[in-house]
Amino acid sequence: MRLVRLRERMVEANLDGLLITRPENRRYLSGFTGSAGVLIVTAGRQAIATDSRYYEQVKVQCPDWELVEVGYGFEEQMLDVLRRLGLGGRSVGFEAEYVTVGQLLRWERSLQGHVALVNTSHLVEDLRMSKDEEELQAIRRAVALADEALAHIYGWMQPGMTERQVAWELESTMRTRGASRLSFEVIVASGPNGALPHARPGDRVIQAGEPVVMDLGCVVDGYCSDVTRTVCLGKPKDDKYLEVWNLVLKAQETAEAGVKAGITGLDGDKLARDVIAGAGYGEYFGHRLGHGVGLAVHEDPNLSFTYPDVIPAGAVVTVEPGIYLPGWGGVRIEDMVVVREGGVEVLTGAAKVPILER
Ligand code: ZN
Ligand code: ZN
Repeated sequence: MRLVRLRERMVEANLDGLLITRPENRRYLSGFTGSAGVLIVTAGRQAIATDSRYYEQVKVQCPDWELVEVGYGFEEQMLDVLRRLGLGGRSVGFEAEYVTVGQLLRWERSLQGHVALVNTSHLVEDLRMSKDEEELQAIRRAVALADEALAHIYGWMQPGMTERQVAWELESTMRTRGASRLSFEVIVASGPNGALPHARPGDRVIQAGEPVVMDLGCVVDGYCSDVTRTVCLGKPKDDKYLEVWNLVLKAQETAEAGVKAGITGLDGDKLARDVIAGAGYGEYFGHRLGHGVGLAVHEDPNLSFTYPDVIPAGAVVTVEPGIYLPGWGGVRIEDMVVVREGGVEVLTGAAKVPILER
């Protein structure tokens, strides 16, 4: 089915063939999880050219694909391989966003003008936007592990621990319970560090009464999760914390109530942004509201002031408003949701609590 839809798009783009090198796209189309290889898709055939490390793996993971054993010499053999697949003298697309200039120059040298290389973008990424049930199952498991890690940390973390300690506890909880890896390095940002949306956890000691932003996610069967919660250990040091926390939650709830299939990324983003701007904090919410999540932790579609396109049914996106006050700290609350015709289904189950009693 995925190949059928890809071939329709290749026809629209006047392509006789397509070379796929982005790892997530290779996996999405063929099931191949190896780190190297080129998929070659034509109107009637699909092949995977890779090296000897993966010959057996391809036979197991990609039974419907022709294995082309090129060793480490794909570039030298490229013209022959494409000719054997009927692509001599034809137009063959490549993924412009994922082929380096050096690689393209070597390909062109190898093909000597006997095949026309055409740059394409987002052909496979567009197909990946709407998730099927099997993909949603993997995503739900990745989300559940992040939820479990947060539930554990809510009871475990104490003032006096460092950001790094908490980050490792979150990471090891997800890993020991079944994550194959992290979606990205865990973020634990306490006090003023929380004003940096993508702070790295360091040796800073977490104090009672200050905001702590925790952003984490893991990978199950290739699919990612991504969740953020902000908590304060014990009574907040100032009144601003609850004001900001409640405002961010309200912005998130407003967006989750309003996003549905067919809305543009721009309008989805605006739902939350208007709430935050209306309360006078607009300049402190600098990033987009959300991004797609799937085989990649950041993928299309986006809920963003820079994304005018429509959000399709089946898309999995984050809803993650935040307010970042320099010198004070930040609050971000992030859920993952599936976009449906009538609204969203929230996948994230981690409790939203501003204060953990200590
Ligand atoms: Zn996140
Ligand atoms: Zn995110």
